[in-house]
Amino acid sequence: MGPPIVIVGGGLAGLAAAVRLTEAGREVVLIESKRKLGGRATSFVDPRSGETLDNCQHVLMGSCTNLLDLYGRLGVLDLIEWHRTIWWANPPGDPDEMTPSSLPAPAHFAGSFLRMRFLGLEDKRAVARAMWRLIRLGREGRERWKGQSFGRFLEETRQTERARSHFWEPVIISACNMPCARTDASLAMYVFQAGFLQDSWSPVMGLSMRPLVELYDPAQQFIESRGGAMRLGVSAMSLSFDGTRVRGVVTDEGMVEASAVITAVPPDRLAKLCSGTLTSADVRLGRLDEIAFSPILGVHLAFDAPIMETPHLVLPGRDTQWLFRKERDAQGRHRVHAVISAADSWMDLDERAIVDRVMHDVHWALPRARGLQPVAFRAVKEKRATFAGVPGIDALRPKAKRDGVRGGVENLFLAGDWCATGWPATMEGAVRSGYLASAAVCGRSGDRCEDALVPDVPAAPLSRWLGL
Ligand SMILES: Cc1cc2nc3c(=O)[nH]c(=O)nc-3n(C[C@H](O)[C@H](O)[C@H](O)COP(=O)(O)OP(=O)(O)OC[C@H]3O[C@@H](n4cnc5c(N)ncnc54)[C@H](O)[C@@H]3O)c2cc1C
Repeated sequence: MGPPIVIVGGGLAGLAAAVRLTEAGREVVLIESKRKLGGRATSFVDPRSGETLDNCQHVLMGSCTNLLDLYGRLGVLDLIEWHRTIWWANPPGDPDEMTPSSLPAPAHFAGSFLRMRFLGLEDKRAVARAMWRLIRLGREGRERWKGQSFGRFLEETRQTERARSHFWEPVIISACNMPCARTDASLAMYVFQAGFLQDSWSPVMGLSMRPLVELYDPAQQFIESRGGAMRLGVSAMSLSFDGTRVRGVVTDEGMVEASAVITAVPPDRLAKLCSGTLTSADVRLGRLDEIAFSPILGVHLAFDAPIMETPHLVLPGRDTQWLFRKERDAQGRHRVHAVISAADSWMDLDERAIVDRVMHDVHWALPRARGLQPVAFRAVKEKRATFAGVPGIDALRPKAKRDGVRGGVENLFLAGDWCATGWPATMEGAVRSGYLASAAVCGRSGDRCEDALVPDVPAAPLSRWLGL
């Protein structure tokens, strides 16, 4: 038995790699600097209230086949609650509902879309025109848009101002954490093609019914009972490189020798672990500092009275994109969580100013809440929430394994939501990267690594026939 495989980072990418490798009979040591698992998709204990709160609401979709597979392996699938309807605020009336019907995809949203009142006839015509174009572009057409902005696609398909601000922006900002004008067209197109149009299961929304951190409770036992180890509260300081191979990971508690290393940390953290010699030996590490980030703001609010009737609500055309009704807190107060993605203009605001600005949107969207103020709140700023999926980002997203032609370090494998998966920065992207890295460690190469992924939800026959 040689040294173990060392995984740096206990977010979803690192966990996914650790789970698959231990199942394959490999000995792993997972090093995580925090004392809990889940990375950005986790929870914390709020010192003010003592409540366990998520960093931010995390939404998954039916299309997240690999994330669901990981939850299945950990035995936590039952903790996910599914919502077929997406509610769109349309005050002072009731929210509009977007629910897949029994019509075959890609026509499954046609009925609810036609009934939506927050878009006018011209807006709907424009959206339908763009949807049809997205269907007909298919995967190959999407590839051709790589490197251009999705805003350009919206211009080409002659979107109205309202269709843009009330429909396209809320969806793309929520899914890609960037406005349309700054998002790579192929990433945004993937969201619509694979997430909404191709079948009627993919757009179904999943929400954890428990704090996110509880989803990872079984992971430690899963790994340790199969001979692996988890070292929580231990920070990797650098990767030890002998000029040819990575020998191990230097941590704040000493050196951990490794037969192979998977790094499952964000690109800026990875850059800090690599010496100049290592960076110049592996082409995948050369452009880490070119990857930019985009912020997200999550605002936890507690009220004395119930204010939301639907489990969640999109706020079209507003600064706050989404509200989620949470379970009551320990004191019986009614909790609501507000999410602002691509939150650049909010980062310098103090908590009181943030809450005032969010409450402006809450009062707009929820007539019942007018006149009410939260009795408790907590704003969580994540300045480096996700990588910025700008046009051309693909060139900066490395593969798990060194490139045979361009060179690299043979026993160094990369994972993380920012690696090359084709997905925006999501939990699904992170799990995919972890699965790909574990397959690469097990000796699979090229396309055979892709075999380690759970297949996508199949496109419905009509969607396939039309080109999706
Ligand atoms: C506010 C917010 C909202 C989001 N909303 C959604 C959503 O609704 N749906 C969705 O799918 N995705 C969402 N995401 C994105 C999702 O959280 C991430 O894509 C995913 O969790 C990334 O996982 P990861 O394992 O790649 O990285 P991370 O979660 O960042 O994990 C990296 C881990 O490495 C550890 N680490 C870093 N440096 C070291 C070191 N030197 N030594 C040891 N350990 C180290 C970190 O502590 C961390 O635990 C959101 C993200 C944020 C921030």
